[in-house]
Amino acid sequence: MQQSAQTRTGRFAPTPSGPLHFGSLVAAVASYCQSKSVNGNWLVRIEDIDTPRVIKGSADNILHTLENFGFEWDGEVLYQSQRFKIYEEFLQTLISQGFIYACNCSRKSLLGSPIQTGPLGKIYPGNCRTKQLDLHTLKLRLNTETVGSIEFHDNHFDTFQLNLTDEVGDIILKRQDGVYAYHLAVVIDDALSHITDIVRGADLLGSTCIHLHLNRLFKFSTANYLHIPLIKNKTGDKLSKQTGAKGLSIQKASEQLLDALNFLGQKTPTELSTYEPSYILKYAKDHWDSKKIPS
Ligand code: GLU
Repeated sequence: MQQSAQTRTGRFAPTPSGPLHFGSLVAAVASYCQSKSVNGNWLVRIEDIDTPRVIKGSADNILHTLENFGFEWDGEVLYQSQRFKIYEEFLQTLISQGFIYACNCSRKSLLGSPIQTGPLGKIYPGNCRTKQLDLHTLKLRLNTETVGSIEFHDNHFDTFQLNLTDEVGDIILKRQDGVYAYHLAVVIDDALSHITDIVRGADLLGSTCIHLHLNRLFKFSTANYLHIPLIKNKTGDKLSKQTGAKGLSIQKASEQLLDALNFLGQKTPTELSTYEPSYILKYAKDHWDSKKIPS
């Protein structure tokens, strides 16, 4: 893997909770082209942090599918399940700086509290902020009381902004069952892997504001962001494993790659459909233009 101060590095970070579907293929193609078009590195990270949600064999299946779709990644595949010690160390830094508190609220105990809902879900009212509960056995929350608004430039959606204090609230960074939050792991992994270009679905635009705040607390540098429009199914829901998206078919790899490029607004000559997936990806990165991604 080549690495210099200027080397751009992207990543694809699937959750192994089922096979890759068309939405994940679009994210893989876009992140691959965005870094490979500038001779950068492209890494693969398996986000198997939420161990109860992981489906056995799914990570291998995802890597096998990526290979059959012509993708080649740089360096070793990273598995979040092997990095708990690193997440704990960073979490301890936040604890020692006073940004974290323990919380024993359950859904039931919150029934009497006024709960508002923001773009990322229910907003925790901060009941445990000042209780000084046991940091070893309970869930841990990041105090966002004084954070306010976080704004960033996205290469597709332009300016995006979210107020963490009013619209998100105190997010959980470690659950009571010991599982570290996606937000914590993703920020640490992207920084330690020197990721410069984060390309992923638009459903994570709001999460990026949380990531930028954590970056700031850890003094990590900021990456370039490109969020791609979501693919919806016939009923208007985001295409995902939860909404029943079908797995990709290796036999139709070339055709599905062209469909993904078409979704991303990249023009491809029709004869390309008769070529191997690796050739299609090479063509795609040589002709990649992120400005053509349709709104
Ligand atoms: N693991 C997430 C997913 O499969 C992607 C997270 C990211 O790209 O930051 O949707």
